[in-house]
Amino acid sequence: MATKAQKSSAKTVSKAQIFRALGLSARMKGASTGGAWFADSKDFLESVNPTTGEVLARIEQASAKDYDKVMKEAKKAFLVWRSMPAPRRGEVVRQVGEALRQKKEMLGALVSLEMGKIHTEGLGEVQEMIDICDFAVGLSRTLSGPTLQSERPKHRMMEQWHPLGVVGVISAFNFPVAVWAWNTALAWVCGDACLWKPSSKTPLCAIACQNIVAEVFKRNGLPEGLSCVTIGRGSTIGEKLVNDHDVPLISATGSTRMGQRIGAVVGGRLGRAILELGGNNAIIISDKADLTGALASAFFGAVGTAGQRCTSTRRLIIHEKVYDTFVKKLIANYKRVNIGDPLDPKTLMGPLIDEGAVADYENAIKAAKEQGGKLLYGGKVLKPFGAATFVQPTIIEIDNKAPIVQSETFAPILYVMKYRKFDQALKLHNDVPQGLSSAVYTDSVNEGEAFISFLGSDCGIANINIGTSGAEIGGAFGGEKETGGGRESGSDSWKMYMRRQTNTINWGGEVHLAQGVEFKA
Ligand code: NAD
Repeated sequence: MATKAQKSSAKTVSKAQIFRALGLSARMKGASTGGAWFADSKDFLESVNPTTGEVLARIEQASAKDYDKVMKEAKKAFLVWRSMPAPRRGEVVRQVGEALRQKKEMLGALVSLEMGKIHTEGLGEVQEMIDICDFAVGLSRTLSGPTLQSERPKHRMMEQWHPLGVVGVISAFNFPVAVWAWNTALAWVCGDACLWKPSSKTPLCAIACQNIVAEVFKRNGLPEGLSCVTIGRGSTIGEKLVNDHDVPLISATGSTRMGQRIGAVVGGRLGRAILELGGNNAIIISDKADLTGALASAFFGAVGTAGQRCTSTRRLIIHEKVYDTFVKKLIANYKRVNIGDPLDPKTLMGPLIDEGAVADYENAIKAAKEQGGKLLYGGKVLKPFGAATFVQPTIIEIDNKAPIVQSETFAPILYVMKYRKFDQALKLHNDVPQGLSSAVYTDSVNEGEAFISFLGSDCGIANINIGTSGAEIGGAFGGEKETGGGRESGSDSWKMYMRRQTNTINWGGEVHLAQGVEFKA
């Protein structure tokens, strides 16, 4: 847990310093089992700085042959790793956490450089990795199953959890390091090897993470293959991974469209999938709310990370009595947003990931207007550094039923709407296909309890008097409906990374059949 506010000193950090500290260079290869990087596809991927459009590095992507080589090592390494006591695996993960602490400043800066989130958020993302390592260390001594009462005399039943195998991790661009750590820190203490296919938009973040972790595994005399990376196209390397019968679990984070494809393929081979997909998160702001708190949460939720969090606030459902005042104050805040270089400590909002994301932003605004929406603030594309990747955070008044409101646009567009009765607010809240994060601002106990009750929010995360965006690692993270139903990170999410076994032990000698069945010749 970060004890102080994240301090940004990254203004003075140059690309050269970041590259040197994290073992990066202008030309790299995209496959690793923990030793030297390799690839023989001759198919190059460019990592682009979304702030300037500058090419940061060229990476030769992994080929199908490279994938097979990586998988062979991963399977071998799993056999060694699963035999180690879990607390010893936890000790290695503790050292991974320490290595991340050492590199926090530089890795956080790289996240800002390659993905575009502001530096305090880049640091926060690395802190999340450290936190999940700490969590996993404790978990390594407490992985446990229950002892159950047997109906048979002198018998005992229990459940054990065993390592699963090689876990495939597919991650999205917007959390280019933390999502991988959420999965791997748990999977490693559970005894699994991991193969990561990162987003093609953030390959450098993946290379840097692998360099940090590989050093720790090597120092501990562990075999290559426990942490593997294959950088390559979703349609080639990604498809190979999800179709691989040697991968019992695929944990995939990304769009609902990607999840539908992966869910079908993994389901088709009866594998296990954790799907962490898109959200359409709303805050209900009651007339009984502390409006100052609601304003701060809505502002961060909608503008933070330039609206590129799965938990970003996309809709505000505001009581009609406070609607005008609240929206006026929100617009005043929007006018003060400093848009620019994410590594500049004065910046509050950086760029979108690429020009495709800007096109999505423009198309969504156009559609909203055509569907009856009224633009209250924003709507413009900006080019402070030449690249057309910056946009104004935008507020649109619109009906919840408008088709554009029903889908996730991964950009800082906030839809606002009014309600009169709390029941109506709940109905509007749940009336979208996605179900990730949600919040209510109210000082009414009844409204708060109703919101988190079975009658209330249908999301995987439901908060009272805090916003939708930004979750702690201690809780299980994930959502319902089109968000995919997966859970990762804290609580008992570790169970997804292990296989459960029920054991019945007869310590009395006599054979008793269950349910009193008699079977004697
Ligand atoms: P995306 O769906 O375009 O890509 C995500 C990952 O899936 C990438 O690594 C991509 O290469 C891979 N992929 C795509 N098609 C594939 C296939 N057929 N086989 C295997 N892999 C394939 O998503 P994105 O644009 O990188 O990220 C933004 C989306 O991610 C948003 O919808 C956001 O809400 C979601 N997201 C969800 C969570 C969550 O926990 N629920 C967290 C972060 C992001």
